[in-house]
Amino acid sequence: MSFSIERGETLCLVGESGCGKSVTCLAAMGLHSEPVRRKAGSVALFDETLSEMTERQLAPIRGRDVAMIFQDPAASLNPVQRVGRQVAEVLVVHRSLSWRAAHEQAIALLGEVGILHPADRADAYPHQLSGGMCQRVMIAMALACRPKLIIADEATTALDVTTQAQILRLMRTLQRETGTAMIFVTHDLSVVAEIADRVAVMYSGRIVESASADELFDHPAHPYTRGLMDCRLDAHAPVADRLRAIEGTVPGPAARPAGCAFRTRCSKARAVCAETPQLRWRAGSQAVACHFPESLQ
Ligand code: SF4
Repeated sequence: MSFSIERGETLCLVGESGCGKSVTCLAAMGLHSEPVRRKAGSVALFDETLSEMTERQLAPIRGRDVAMIFQDPAASLNPVQRVGRQVAEVLVVHRSLSWRAAHEQAIALLGEVGILHPADRADAYPHQLSGGMCQRVMIAMALACRPKLIIADEATTALDVTTQAQILRLMRTLQRETGTAMIFVTHDLSVVAEIADRVAVMYSGRIVESASADELFDHPAHPYTRGLMDCRLDAHAPVADRLRAIEGTVPGPAARPAGCAFRTRCSKARAVCAETPQLRWRAGSQAVACHFPESLQ
């Protein structure tokens, strides 16, 4: 798969569990672990080729130039350290601030991400904060060094819908203010509609459709994208039709069929689908990897 992100842009990576979204993000930062290995290709941040760097060269870039926010903030934060200190530590390590200066800046950052009474909250341990608050702390840590790129992996999935909406709005606002680029991984199309500039739909380790958010929602072209759209809850539909699903599951790498990986689940599959469809550009910025994409009409 191949993609690029502009400064200040949000690219959503979308797809079911197991399609390779998280592996892609971890691989981009050289954080994938055995048995996953990078065999080909490259990852670049402006004019620096990250994929050619050693672990020692990559370490200062992680957290400073590229920050990651994960799904479960409670699991990402250190349970035995006050949250203010955890935010401050990023500034001490990457910006060489003194602990005193870093602590003051950490309190300012906690305020920036919408935490009320940040000086008091900085003294709390993660278990004393709600899930939404912990995720705000994670965002404060991610923003601490004003990174060039934020990778948010299902960053709002564990939150209730109200908190999710608040966090998405917050991330969007802060991103616009700082010009940070963002890769936002999600399986939730309502989140995509809220936050994406561009969308890459993934299936079984490949991008099967890439488009601006408007293009994707106006005329999804790949049968898998259309299937994902149909899976959205429609509260106005008759009860029996409210929740639809795509039959089957994403095949693992060992079980991937030859040709189009979606063909065992696709109602449009024909004999030619045994040949791998290439990602081809259509009108605008939309590209689709399918032998029989939906027409644009
Ligand atoms: S290439 Fe064939 S099997 Fe694959 S999505 Fe398109 S129509 Fe379906």
